[in-house]
Amino acid sequence: MSLIVHKYGGTSMGSTERISNVAKRVAKWARAGHQMVVVPSAMSGETNRLLALAKELAPSTQTAAYCRELDMLAATGEQASSALLAIALQAQGIESVSYAGWQVPIRTNSAYTKARIESIDDQKVRADLQAGRVVIVTGFQGLDDVGNITTLGRGGSDTSAVAVAAAMKADECLIYTDVDGVYTTDPRVVPAARRLQTVSFEEMLEMASMGSKVLQIRSVEFAGKYKVKLRVLSSFTPWDIDINEEAASGTLITFEEDENMEQAIVSGIAFTRDETKISVLGVPDKPGIAYQILGAVADANVEVDMIIQNVSKEGKTDFSFTVNHGDYAKTMDLLKTVVVPKLGAQEVVGDTKICKVSIVGIGMRSHVGVASTMFRVLSEEGINIQMISTSEIKTSVVVDEKYMELAVKALHKAFELDQPAA
Ligand code: ADP
Ligand code: ASP
Ligand code: MG
Repeated sequence: MSLIVHKYGGTSMGSTERISNVAKRVAKWARAGHQMVVVPSAMSGETNRLLALAKELAPSTQTAAYCRELDMLAATGEQASSALLAIALQAQGIESVSYAGWQVPIRTNSAYTKARIESIDDQKVRADLQAGRVVIVTGFQGLDDVGNITTLGRGGSDTSAVAVAAAMKADECLIYTDVDGVYTTDPRVVPAARRLQTVSFEEMLEMASMGSKVLQIRSVEFAGKYKVKLRVLSSFTPWDIDINEEAASGTLITFEEDENMEQAIVSGIAFTRDETKISVLGVPDKPGIAYQILGAVADANVEVDMIIQNVSKEGKTDFSFTVNHGDYAKTMDLLKTVVVPKLGAQEVVGDTKICKVSIVGIGMRSHVGVASTMFRVLSEEGINIQMISTSEIKTSVVVDEKYMELAVKALHKAFELDQPAA
C-alpha cells in the first residue's frame, strides 16, 4: 500500500462531469489499495472570475487590507471544488472528507496573494487515511499565524500538492493537468513540441522560473528540497485505463542524471509575458546607485529579475531592470516620486510590451556556443535583443513581445527540439 497525492488543475475540475471523472479515477486508485490525498484547484475560470469582481469594485487598490480580502475571496474557489469532489467520491461509494487549508492547517506567512507555506500539520489527514477515507485538501490556500486566510500565488495548487506530499512523506505526487506531460515548450504555442519522458529537477526548476506554467516554481522547489517523487500527466485519459499504465505515463521529474535521460543540449524553451522593463535614465554614475535604486525597490517587496547598467557617458549612466507586471505601477510610482529626485536622475521610462524567452538545458554546462547560436537565430529572424541573462543551464533574452511566438518557434527548430533526442 502506498500513500499517493493527486493534484487536479482547473480544467480537469472544469465541470461536474469532469469532477465525476476525477472521482472515478481517484476511486480506482483507492480501490487498488492506496491511501489517497487529493488536492484540487478551483473550477477553471473561477479564480479569474472572483478576482475580476474585486477589480470592478476597486480597480487600482493594492493595500494589504485589500489583498487580505482578495485571498479570502479567491480561496472560496478551491473550497467549492473540494467539497464537490468529496461529494462525487461519496457518490462512487468511497468514504471521503474535504478540508480547507485552515482546517488542516496549512500554515503560511502573511504575504497575501503570494504567501509561502511554512508548515503542514498532517495529524488530521493521517487519522482520516487510517480510517479508510480519501482526503481532499484544498489547493492554493493556507492560514497565517494570526488566523487570516492566505493564497499562494497563481498556479499555487501545484505547490499545495507537493508540500502536502512532502509533509506526509507520500510515495508519489501526481500532477494531473490538461496536457499529457512536460513538453519541450508550451505545446499550445508550438504544435511541434515534444513530450519529455523525464526532465531533470534542475531543468524543471529553470523552466518553471522562466515562465513555463505547467508547474508553479515553488512546487518544484519543494520537490527538490524534500525529494518528492513528482510526475506530470493527463487527466483526460479515460479514467478506467490500466492503473500501471497510468502510473508510468506523462513526465517524471528526476533527481539523478542517469544514462536513460535524454541528452539534448537544450531541453526546453520557456517564455513569459509577465515581466515589464523599467529604465532609470541619466543617473549620475557614482558608487551606490544600484543599491539606492534596487534597495528601495526591494524594500517595497518587489522582486527584480534582469538588471543592466550601461557604460557611463559624461558621468551619467542608464540603469534598467525587469519586474513582474503586477508590480509595475507601484515600482514606477516609487521611482518617479522618491528615488529619481533623490538620485538626480533625468527620467524613468517603462515598457510593458516585452517578453522573456529562455533556453534551458543541463547540456549547456558542457557545451560552448549555445548562447551564441541563440543570438544568431534571433538575429536571422530580425529580432532585436534588449537584455540578456545567463546561468549555468539557461540563457534568457528580453525582446519585444510581438516577436515572442516567432522567437520560440525559431529556437525550437534551431535546437532540433521537435526531433527525438539521440
Ligand atoms: P492546471 O490548471 O492543470 O494547473 P495550467 O494551465 O496551470 O494547468 O498548466 C498547464 C498548461 O501549461 C498547459 O495547458 C500548457 O499550455 C502550459 N505549458 C507551458 N509550458 C509548458 C510545457 N513546457 N509543457 C507542457 N505544458 C506547458
Ligand atoms: N485556482 C488558482 C489559480 O487559478 C490556483 C491553481 O489553479 O493552481 O491560480
Ligand atoms: Mg497550474
